Amino acid sequence: MTIRLPSPLLRFSAFGLLAIVLPAAILGVFGYVSLRKWETSAELLFREQARDLASMTTEKVEMLLLRTEDEILGRIEAIVRRPGFTPDALREVVATAPFVERLCLVDRQGRLLFPAALTPEDMGAVSKLLVEISQAFWERGSRRHVVVGDQVILAAVLRVGSDPLLVALRRNPEVLRREIVEKTLRAVEGPTIIAVIDDQDRPVYARAPLDRAERIATASFGAALPSWRVALYQPEGLSPREAVRRQATVFAIAFGLLLVVIVGGLVATYRLVKRETEMARLKADFVANVSHDLKTPLSLIRMFGETLQLGRVTEEAGRQEYYRVITRESERLSRLIDNVLDFSRLEDGRREYDIVTTAVEPVIRETLEAFDYVLGQQGFKVEVTVPPDLPPVPLDADAVGQALANLMDNAIKYSGDVNTLRIDARIEGDALAISVADTGIGILPEEQPKIFEKFYRVGRSETQGRRGSGVGLALVRHVAQAHGGRVTVESRPGEGSRFTLWFPLCRES
Ligand code: ADP
Repeated sequence: MTIRLPSPLLRFSAFGLLAIVLPAAILGVFGYVSLRKWETSAELLFREQARDLASMTTEKVEMLLLRTEDEILGRIEAIVRRPGFTPDALREVVATAPFVERLCLVDRQGRLLFPAALTPEDMGAVSKLLVEISQAFWERGSRRHVVVGDQVILAAVLRVGSDPLLVALRRNPEVLRREIVEKTLRAVEGPTIIAVIDDQDRPVYARAPLDRAERIATASFGAALPSWRVALYQPEGLSPREAVRRQATVFAIAFGLLLVVIVGGLVATYRLVKRETEMARLKADFVANVSHDLKTPLSLIRMFGETLQLGRVTEEAGRQEYYRVITRESERLSRLIDNVLDFSRLEDGRREYDIVTTAVEPVIRETLEAFDYVLGQQGFKVEVTVPPDLPPVPLDADAVGQALANLMDNAIKYSGDVNTLRIDARIEGDALAISVADTGIGILPEEQPKIFEKFYRVGRSETQGRRGSGVGLALVRHVAQAHGGRVTVESRPGEGSRFTLWFPLCRES
């Protein structure tokens, strides 16, 4: 029984899920729930405070109002008690106290003592007042606010000797607003807008404009101001709910950014791990492939060498064939070893190129000669097109020969039913182009960019049974780039491939 451990990528994804996504989701849910609670309690607290503030303000206004009325009544009483008092002396009060809009003095029999005459309207109000107040009120000598029509009248009984006198006082609404309400409300500080409103919700006084402000609490006055109320308004956008929301938004953005950074880090690490895992797999394949590639020609050389040594091959033609196999396999072996060594030099950055002006045709011919035997054996149709006037080009002959050998080797390795190898050198623009084309298995378009990466080999089914290490084309690309050129591929699966090496005609200094 084989136990398959989850792959590092799977483990990494599971770790990412458990370590980041899960805590983030839990934190998000908790954050949301506590935000809702926080919002509700902030709102409750805020409204409670607003109610307290409103009722405190009514008390302050009433206190100031009663104190003002007390003072005025005190002055009236002092005047009334003066020896030789004549009602006319009350003019002084009316003249000096703007708070008093109308002042009347009436005796127990309902006779008007002050002022001398009243408008019919005021007279009516006094008559109604006399009906309103009770016998006991006269006897106790008390004071109260009485609503007559739409007006509030302060009624107070003064005892002067045995005869009670009734003082009726109407307040000046403008002075009341300015001196009592405004003075008190201006001293109240806070983010909310405080106002006094009348029975139709019209502001009598407001500390700031009330447009679009929401009313959050009201408190009624006592009998002194029965139709007015203190109201607290919340300016637009200043509700605790909104403040909490703003805080939550800032928090959510910060949290989101943090998550993005974490996820970004995870994705980057994931990619790195993925690449490293892939690289480790490719390297393992590389080692296996190279070992296999080394073993095959070595066993052939050994087998043919031993057979020759034992003198088992008597005919000269047979012996020559054995020698050719040994030579071909040793060449293949050296090519492979060269490739691996050059590749490791290239990896370390130790590969040096000796680029000098070189005739192209001999490089192609000599490289191709090494494949003569195998090409002939596999019945390849070979076409080489090199114009006789092709000028010499700056090249490292060994490196270019090695690159061409890799391309030719691949063309043979990945051949199909029709074996053709076409090599063609030409000048295109300001570059020398050398193409190696085959009619082999071809390469899928999505694989084409990847085949130049080190250790990369196209899916096993395509390359199955075909020896290789996956470094050949990486080396080809390096050689081309070292010359200031490039390598391109055109290929169709099932039809064949054409690799072209491009070398600039002039060396860049
Ligand atoms: P390998 O040692 O596997 O041949 P290379 O680097 O030379 O390594 O090539 C990389 C891969 O590109 C090969 O494994 C093969 O799948 C594909 N390839 C290269 N040349 C050809 C070709 N001429 N036709 C089809 N596929 C090719």
